[in-house]
Amino acid sequence: GDFAIETDTLVVGAGPGGYVAAIRAAQLGQKVTIVEKGTLGGVCLNVGCIPSKALIAAGHRYETAKHSDAMGITADNVKVDFSKVQAWKAGVVKKLTGGVEGLLKGNKVEIVRGEAYFVDNETVRVMDENSAQTYKFKNAIIATGSRPIELPQFKYTKRVLDSTGALALEEIPNHIVVIGGGYIGTELGGAYANFGTKVTILEGTDEILNGFEKQMSAIVKRNLKKKGAEIITKALAKGVQETENSVTVTYEVKGEEQSVEADYVFVMVGRRPNTDELGLEQAGVEIGERGIINIDKQCRTNVSNIYAIGDVVPGPPLAHKASYEAKIAAEAIAGHPSEIDYLGIPAVVFSDPELASVGYTEKQAKDEGIDIIAAKFPFAANGRALALEAAEGFLKLVTRKEDGLVIGAQIAGPSASDMIAELGLAIEAGMTAEDLAMTIHAHPTLGEITMEAAEVALGNPIHIV
Ligand code: FAD
Repeated sequence: GDFAIETDTLVVGAGPGGYVAAIRAAQLGQKVTIVEKGTLGGVCLNVGCIPSKALIAAGHRYETAKHSDAMGITADNVKVDFSKVQAWKAGVVKKLTGGVEGLLKGNKVEIVRGEAYFVDNETVRVMDENSAQTYKFKNAIIATGSRPIELPQFKYTKRVLDSTGALALEEIPNHIVVIGGGYIGTELGGAYANFGTKVTILEGTDEILNGFEKQMSAIVKRNLKKKGAEIITKALAKGVQETENSVTVTYEVKGEEQSVEADYVFVMVGRRPNTDELGLEQAGVEIGERGIINIDKQCRTNVSNIYAIGDVVPGPPLAHKASYEAKIAAEAIAGHPSEIDYLGIPAVVFSDPELASVGYTEKQAKDEGIDIIAAKFPFAANGRALALEAAEGFLKLVTRKEDGLVIGAQIAGPSASDMIAELGLAIEAGMTAEDLAMTIHAHPTLGEITMEAAEVALGNPIHIV
């Protein structure tokens, strides 16, 4: 018989949104059930953030092993066994997804394997291959994430790959075409370029990574080109012909049709939320434009006991945003007055060098009529960066002119992904340029660049004139 199992909070999806929400809700005293149809950890741990960073790290090691002659190191015969790279990457993923399972169990969250489907606003059916079970919930959190958009002219096949396929190649390809110069295309294209693959990026707009300032993306572009990559902007990808061993991609640029032959084409043109096969209409949850679910400041949908977080809601589709919203939703369910504030959410690209941004850019601040100081400091004036043979890039600090309040920062340079955390903290804590300048940073570290940019904002830097 199918009697309903009762739970307080039911979470659908165990990605960085869902599993964090489940843990926090359990910590706050709820009886929590989490439903996952795939693998714990979601896109991020299994086929997103983590495996991509593993591949990028391996490519970077290989590339630097071959190109450290400036330091007096020449290495002959540097080789990659790509199946071992893949096995190592899989091991990293497995450690983390196993860790998530342990954390959920340790917090007494009930893990249910199967696909959830809403029956009404207090009931879901969970189906797996041979059974179905009904759950009744007081509150639910939708954390079903997103999947790659498939272009009609580029149906996924053995050689037309989405990001999941691109991460799973068994051999280093000779040549790939990447459609879409966003962060996923640039990161994966860059990783394979480091392994020696010829990379052709087709980007529809006039710049790759166009969410970032041109001065930043220009450095990444230059480095990609140095590695032999070809970047074709304002290019409209039109179609693909596939043979047993190759693809030929046709595209239009300046009104002319061109084509390029490669081993694979990666289609990385964005993602769509998984909100279409969830029975949301039966629960009364409204789905907005392009499948997005709109929420209030506490992550509540239009149905008061159903929340939504992560890639299914508006805003940048990033893992740390999903996890942040997860905590807000769990706390809201527990009756806390928590609300979302997106100002401190960083965006990072794991390119060469890394790009990172938090808060306002100079342009955004000016567009909003905020009187600002934009203070730049180059990595080339930092001792640690030079001693790392990685002195390319800059940090730009955006502060409010009237009081020096830190409202944003952009970094292009090595370890930008880690350095941006200090700037996010400065924004969250309401710090000023003086606070950053008077914080003693260890020498020699890349962190000193942040301190120095604050000195620039104050008008009296020590290490540049
Ligand atoms: P997801 O991680 O997508 O998890 C949703 C889960 O819900 C899935 O496991 C799915 O199986 C499950 N599910 C869906 N429907 C149902 C259902 N009906 N019943 C049961 N379960 C269901 N972000 C970053 O911040 N940094 C990065 O470096 C980064 N790199 C990325 C690289 C790549 C190649 C890709 C593709 C993405 C990357 N992202 C990165 C984005 C990041 O992966 C997502 O923003 C993040 O995973 C979203 O988390 P989520 O919890 O909303 O959903």
